[in-house]
Amino acid sequence: MVNLSDILNASILIVDDQEANVQLLGEMLREGGYVCISATTDPSAVCELHRKNRYDLILLDLKMPGMDGFQVMEALKETEADGYLPVLVITSLHDHKLHALAAGAKDFVAKPFDLVEVKTRIHNMLEVRLLYKRLEQHSREQETLALHDALTGLPNRRLLMDRLSLSIAHAHRNGLPMAVMDLDDFKLINDTLGHDAGDTLLSMVAARLVAAVRQEDTVARLSGDEYVIALWEYSHDDDLAKLAAKVLQAVSQPYDFQGRSVGITASVGVGIYPMHGEDVETLMKSADMALYEAKRTGKNACCIAARAHPVAVGALT
Ligand SMILES: [Mg+2]
Repeated sequence: MVNLSDILNASILIVDDQEANVQLLGEMLREGGYVCISATTDPSAVCELHRKNRYDLILLDLKMPGMDGFQVMEALKETEADGYLPVLVITSLHDHKLHALAAGAKDFVAKPFDLVEVKTRIHNMLEVRLLYKRLEQHSREQETLALHDALTGLPNRRLLMDRLSLSIAHAHRNGLPMAVMDLDDFKLINDTLGHDAGDTLLSMVAARLVAAVRQEDTVARLSGDEYVIALWEYSHDDDLAKLAAKVLQAVSQPYDFQGRSVGITASVGVGIYPMHGEDVETLMKSADMALYEAKRTGKNACCIAARAHPVAVGALT
């Protein structure tokens, strides 16, 4: 919930062409305990200020020369992606109150000010505003959780499928191949680590995979020790083979872990679009079958679906 301290720390912008009004509102807010107060007498500066500072509340005069409050609200709508205007309108014109609410203002106060009323409306509006922000933050976190693996923070299966579809569409449009790399079978050479240590190791593997691939590629963790990499388009088969070798080398280098050197082995299967599948499911299946082939050859092997014989890449150092 929102407490009083949150409300008093909220950022507020006062916009009024009359310096005397700015002073009066500023003093009233400071006396009320508010600490983040800014002000401007220039209505054309409001949008830029809000873009930079993302105010929790804008106290907006309606009648100003050059650009009135309605024009300021119209301009603010372009900077607020969700269309929420944190605006409390100040007006001496009774007829303008409803018009201002229809234009997007959340509330209004009338001039001359009734300071108790102004304070109450500001407090109430900030309370709603901060709750709204909390809700936004919460839903962003929920979205992140729904699309990412909790242990490693990598994309999960759902996000991977989405990225693969995008990647295939992109490759199709540009007439270039892309690939899916399936990795698992991480066998600990020194299998004396506990469960928590195993989790730490999986996170270390994740970090190495991310570092080994290009920025445009997606490393996802599907379950247990299974990772899948969606490789964005590439130009030559050599590049793909090099990337596969780099990935395998990266994960099979020893890990400095709890003062010990720990090693793992892994297997990699690669499926290439459009050769081994023109849609996500077929491509994933091809990579999975290639992985199965790679596993049959032993440790640290990589198999590309089209090739008859798996290629062993490197050995543990
Ligand atoms: Mg005015």
